Amino acid sequence: SHFQTSFDARSAAVRVRFGPGVRHQLADEITHLGCRRALILSTPPQADGAMEMAADLKGMAAGVFTRAAMHTPVAVTEEAMEHAHSVDADCLVALGGGSTTGLGKAIAYRTDLPQIVIPTTYAGSEATWILGQTENGEKTTLTDPKVQPEVILYDAELVRTLPVGMTVNSALNAMAHAAEALYAENRNPMSTMLAVEGLRAFAAALPRVIENPEDLDARGETLYGAWLCGTVLGQVGMALHHKLCHTLGGSFDLPHAETHAVVLPHALAYNAIAVPDLLAPVTGIFGGSNPGRALFDFARSMGAPMALRDLGLKRDDVAKAAELATRKPYWNPQPVTRPAIDVLLLAAWAGDPPA
Ligand code: NAD
Repeated sequence: SHFQTSFDARSAAVRVRFGPGVRHQLADEITHLGCRRALILSTPPQADGAMEMAADLKGMAAGVFTRAAMHTPVAVTEEAMEHAHSVDADCLVALGGGSTTGLGKAIAYRTDLPQIVIPTTYAGSEATWILGQTENGEKTTLTDPKVQPEVILYDAELVRTLPVGMTVNSALNAMAHAAEALYAENRNPMSTMLAVEGLRAFAAALPRVIENPEDLDARGETLYGAWLCGTVLGQVGMALHHKLCHTLGGSFDLPHAETHAVVLPHALAYNAIAVPDLLAPVTGIFGGSNPGRALFDFARSMGAPMALRDLGLKRDDVAKAAELATRKPYWNPQPVTRPAIDVLLLAAWAGDPPA
């Protein structure tokens, strides 16, 4: 086959624990880090969970900050840092999805406080050293070892409450990391292995979760998929799919996970022309005649959103988005040209199957 003979690789030193109820081991994990005063972070809708966690921790909870927001606004980070300082916090606990994890990372980037993440979605941010932040309407991304969380507690009981629609979108968001990792310019045999296994886990478990959202085994396997997909995102570079989603989210305010869900089949179909061998695992796992169609059919069968117009993108904005997404050159297996991206985005806007 196609063994890669030359490559570089990196992996992070992270302590990872899986298990239904493992969140109740949080006090032990804080002690293990040599800490005693945790600041617990959440979004407003998850404040109750954060409060329960603080009650569970008794004296080890120094405070609770429940105003985490989408895209990690710097103003919120500054507020949270003041809070951390005022309660003399010596570590951070992020309970939630990518938004809450992002806040913890943003504080850690500025203070180097250790982080424990307890994920409640499949976004996978907990497994990366990447931080995206927004200030004055602009989103910037950085990588730094200080951003990488030290401990992750994957507790399947917590994702049971994720509504079915969000479950599907979040899963497709995670799968997008793995799919693009398969053809990443700096991929290596281990990143490919992580990506294939991450996709397999979602293909196997997501239909079971949709059938019964309370199924703890299936929820656990999707979390396992999220861990692998997040880990691979931290190891290799992304390409066209992530660029398109970044543009659509950043400039047209489309919702993050839903946008990933719609765009992924189109981006894969586009790149399958250049790298059919590298994307062969996708059809191996999901069936179908080509990777784009395979994921289009899988997403549809899971009830995912299929059209950017249903997410609020205006017809006139399709050309604007294509312009923005092709303005600066970036690496992609298939050359990125304006006319081709126009066609791709128009199909994604209308909800048509990829060409
Ligand atoms: P999110 O964290 O914003 O969560 C979406 C909503 O769902 C929130 O209101 C949240 O409170 C709620 N929610 C979360 N878990 C729930 C549960 N189990 N039950 C009920 N409600 C729940 O969304 P997300 O998709 O997890 O994360 C998206 C953000 O993460 C984006 O800003 C994205 O850029 C970022 N991200 C960053 C990385 C990285 O490596 N830096 C990776 C992936 C995503």
